[in-house]
Amino acid sequence: MHVVLWDPRNTGVWKDLAGGMGAARCEGWGGLAGRLVRFWVRERRPPPLLLAHLVAALRRRGHTVEYVCGRFDRPADLFILRPALSTLAIEREAAARLLATHPRAKAMFVGPVASTLPQALDGLGAMIVKGDAEQLYWTLDEVLERPGATVQLGWLEDLDRLPLPDWSPFLPRSFRLGREFARFPSTFVEQSRGCPCRCDFCSHAHLDGVRFREPEAVVDEIRHGVHAWGFRSFSLRGPAFGHDPRRTFELADRLLRAPERVVFSIKTRADCLRPEALRLLKRAGLACVVVDAAEPDLPEPCGDVPAARDAALEEFIAACRALGIRTVAEFVAGDPHDPRQSLLRALGRARRLRPTLAEFHLLTPYPGTEWFDRHAGEWNSADGVALTRTRAVLRYEGFKPEQIERLQRHCYCRFHLRWAAVRDWTGSRWSAFVGRLVRRPGPLVAPGAGPAALPPQAAPPDAPRGKRRLRSDGPHTRPGFSDRHSERRPPE
Ligand code: SF4
Repeated sequence: MHVVLWDPRNTGVWKDLAGGMGAARCEGWGGLAGRLVRFWVRERRPPPLLLAHLVAALRRRGHTVEYVCGRFDRPADLFILRPALSTLAIEREAAARLLATHPRAKAMFVGPVASTLPQALDGLGAMIVKGDAEQLYWTLDEVLERPGATVQLGWLEDLDRLPLPDWSPFLPRSFRLGREFARFPSTFVEQSRGCPCRCDFCSHAHLDGVRFREPEAVVDEIRHGVHAWGFRSFSLRGPAFGHDPRRTFELADRLLRAPERVVFSIKTRADCLRPEALRLLKRAGLACVVVDAAEPDLPEPCGDVPAARDAALEEFIAACRALGIRTVAEFVAGDPHDPRQSLLRALGRARRLRPTLAEFHLLTPYPGTEWFDRHAGEWNSADGVALTRTRAVLRYEGFKPEQIERLQRHCYCRFHLRWAAVRDWTGSRWSAFVGRLVRRPGPLVAPGAGPAALPPQAAPPDAPRGKRRLRSDGPHTRPGFSDRHSERRPPE
């Protein structure tokens, strides 16, 4: 069977961000100042990790796979589309057009948006796969027997059973995560899925708990990425790095003992990592920490953060700066009752905390969260299509959405175009350069040299632990919390 992974072209949305819902990144003003900031952090992000896992899985099952951007003339037996919230309309239209152009083919929607908002993709005759779509490795034939159905695969308990991602259709040499690294090409490696906190506005909430991977499997995947694709920097996915100290120390230890020289970034919260863990991770190659500046148990996501908590965050960022680790702080702003003050307050916090880079996300209701249900009907976009973190989708009292978006861009540029920010950024580049000179020696491996030095990945068994029987879903409502609880094991 020939499978085409279909993606729209140049939407500016990174589908792996925001818990897989996809988000655009604020790019500041136009003009020279905006261009300067964009030049600092220019990126070419890898396509979603899910697609790389699907390539590996489908090829292992003997199918041919092609990655197609924006074209409709490539024939296939099966088209797979992985929508983000803000590309939902594009992908819906594309599926209809693909099925009309290739009437013998089937189409399938996968990913977090297909899982949480299947009603938006209904009525096209395409299959909708809910749950962890990587399980198609074991279940593709069964799913294909149900054309047009919505199929619930549930959550995969053991993420280490997936075949290693295959990046070959995606030009992996061009991947560049400029916000986080000074060494390229870069890629994603999943370290955990979901978050142990349960903020009711967070895009990770639909995952309902956290699943960690074993450090040994993470390091094997990193080493495989170095040998097979030539990657030199790795963004470890998962918002809760450091939540399990045993895994944190073991990962650092294994990276220190590995012969490959790599740098990596993590996403965490200030209270998840102790200073000694930070020092050890720095020795193992930690280059950047994306730190969550939203507080989990505030009544409102962009409310006033108590001074004591901000002091802990400030201390954490200062410790990173002292170690030469770049920090990217992510603020959530845009309180619907007072959006202007909320954004300016976030800008003030960013200036006080002094991360290397800052992101100002507008509050966005994500499907699968309590916030989404609570604020249903309160946003400007009737069909939920424009849900990104750079579009003002909520209705603001006394403000037009464009005014709020302009203010967000203003905050972004005002933070980065300061002498202190330029100095911190230059310092982080300089420390990355010095770190490259003084780090312990290790082989620089040519891409494609082959993973000969690595232990071969054990072939996954025919059926993973925790696999559930497929079932067609009934009405297309998002799965209720009790329903989801019954489908997966409790979080560790
Ligand atoms: S702590 Fe951060 S990542 Fe975790 S649920 Fe809350 S907002 Fe989401």
